[in-house]
Amino acid sequence: MSKKKHTFKAEIQQVLDLVIHSLYSKKEIFLRELISNASDAIDRAQYSGLTDKSIISDAPEWKIDIFADKEEGTLMISDNGMGMSEEDLDKNLGVIASSGTKAFAEALKEKKEVNIPELIGQFGVGFYSAFMVAEEVTVITLKRGEGQKAVKWNSVGDGSYTLDEAARDVSGTTIILKLREEQKEYFDSWRIRELVKKYSDFIAYPIRFKEEVEPVKEGDDSPEVNDEPLNAMTALWKRSKSEVKDEEYNEFYTHLTHDHQEPLEVIHAAVEGVIEFRALLFLPKQAGFDLMMPNQKHGLNLYVRNVLIGADFEMLLPEYLRFVKGVVDSSDLPLNISREMLQDDAVVRKIKSNITGKVLNSLAEMMRDEPKKYKEFYIAFGRIVKEGLHSDWENADKLKNLVMFPSAKTEEGYLTSLQQYVDAMPQGQDAIYYLPSEDISTARQSPHLEALTARGYDVLFFVDPVDQWIVQSLTEFDGKKLIPVDKGDLKLGDEKEQEETKKKLEGESAEYKSLIDYIQGQLKDDIKEVRLSPRLTDSACCLVADENAMNASMERMMRAMNQEVPKQLRLFEINPGHTLIKKMKSMFDENLADERLVDYVELLYGQALLGEGSAVKNPQRFTKLISELMVK
Ligand code: ADP
Repeated sequence: MSKKKHTFKAEIQQVLDLVIHSLYSKKEIFLRELISNASDAIDRAQYSGLTDKSIISDAPEWKIDIFADKEEGTLMISDNGMGMSEEDLDKNLGVIASSGTKAFAEALKEKKEVNIPELIGQFGVGFYSAFMVAEEVTVITLKRGEGQKAVKWNSVGDGSYTLDEAARDVSGTTIILKLREEQKEYFDSWRIRELVKKYSDFIAYPIRFKEEVEPVKEGDDSPEVNDEPLNAMTALWKRSKSEVKDEEYNEFYTHLTHDHQEPLEVIHAAVEGVIEFRALLFLPKQAGFDLMMPNQKHGLNLYVRNVLIGADFEMLLPEYLRFVKGVVDSSDLPLNISREMLQDDAVVRKIKSNITGKVLNSLAEMMRDEPKKYKEFYIAFGRIVKEGLHSDWENADKLKNLVMFPSAKTEEGYLTSLQQYVDAMPQGQDAIYYLPSEDISTARQSPHLEALTARGYDVLFFVDPVDQWIVQSLTEFDGKKLIPVDKGDLKLGDEKEQEETKKKLEGESAEYKSLIDYIQGQLKDDIKEVRLSPRLTDSACCLVADENAMNASMERMMRAMNQEVPKQLRLFEINPGHTLIKKMKSMFDENLADERLVDYVELLYGQALLGEGSAVKNPQRFTKLISELMVK
């Protein structure tokens, strides 16, 4: 192979330009990123070595070494991990690894000042942070396994990189940084020691530092390093909770997720008994980029007896907890287990169920003891947690206690839990009422609330699209049924009262029969039936779905998703107590043929449509009718 010049993919050059010109002051994080990559490469080698002995035929003692060569002006980070082939180099260090190239370009358009850790976190471009401190970066690497050749990658960050053959006998990777003049602090051992302690203490392999070595020539692999490791090397999850400092959890979390923010919650568990495992789980503060992308990987990292079997084991968590990040370490699983085998392994199922319980308990505690924090969590992930009501019957009760909703009586910006709702129910209320709607402000104005609010009842607003699905499983709480207020017959009060209401309505219906029939005739293509309303106090009319039919917001949602929805005729309820209806009745009684009635019926129906958040049938005609009426 002779030296070849390649141009970076456009988005990588963009990353480089951002990194090189960034004013970001914590340039030191480059070391964390390079050590993290080295550690990942050793994890991969160790794991592949379980099944392919040729990969570890040199019986390596895993290590990460850092050398400072002041004379040459270089800092080197060297590992004996998996190494990379020419093809790997081209693939890994020439394009954006994550599937987010397009998203990347869009994200950049919006941002003026880049936050480097955020950039790294979202797009998996940690390697390029080296250019914050180096004017030239060289990678010399030899991939593990038979028949591999050493390769050298080099770039000064100016749009291209070269690939060339290299002389190297020992498998692994060395990153050589030619430090910029103003970045010479990274030659000092105290500085490197400080950074390793700060960011990489938990790395499982020894990290050593050596300064003032003989100038290193290409081909000399690792100069001897005899010093004690700089890092403690104990996996955090193996230590007891009381020993681990918050900063240590935070750094590990960043190492694991590339999320530069602190986690919202840490769950550190050691389970003993029938199955034994340790888990270190994190709830992020915000829904990451990955959650928004379809088919993104999720799950936990699995260690079996200190060997990282792999990342993203989704079988360790139910799907509705896919935002949870972390590590599980178990000695109860065989080392040679594959993903497929894990899928229906009894131990894995037990671990999953245990972890699920731990996360749900931790959320319940947070809800009880730190409501503000819980709200933050719920805004980010509540929507996803709700999916559990549909899929996890075993934990239904716990999940019901975790969900929260906006409601008619809850102040803007706050949410109420089902328990809070029930606790605040006035005497005589024996069901939980909810209104499905697209947004809170439409819900607040809905005529469907009137009779309930008049009684002092609260109504939950189901405004998340997912709420429409979960009502199928969330049918009762604390022995109380959940009832939609925009459907069927709304029966309020005790039996006696219901009987009275029914009688009253029957009486009035007889009185209003001819008007009802008239409206029915006018709207025969649009509605199923006209009737007097048991639920209105202030509004003149509203539309109600049949007991078993889809309500308006569900119908709109289905249409938005391009689903076929058959035309659903709704019930049109009018309020005999309203002046408008009374007025129409007297007009009608006076002159059956009063032409104005045709328009009034149309306007009335339009009002009802707007009230449920739907559009009027013919907006131009609707506004014209209103204008005429106003002029009069
Ligand atoms: P990320 O680590 O988030 O994937 P990076 O830009 O840091 O992104 O690295 C890109 C890829 O390059 C890594 O995923 C890995 O495959 C490869 N890589 C980086 N450093 C090393 C190393 N020291 N040894 C082997 N492979 C490496």
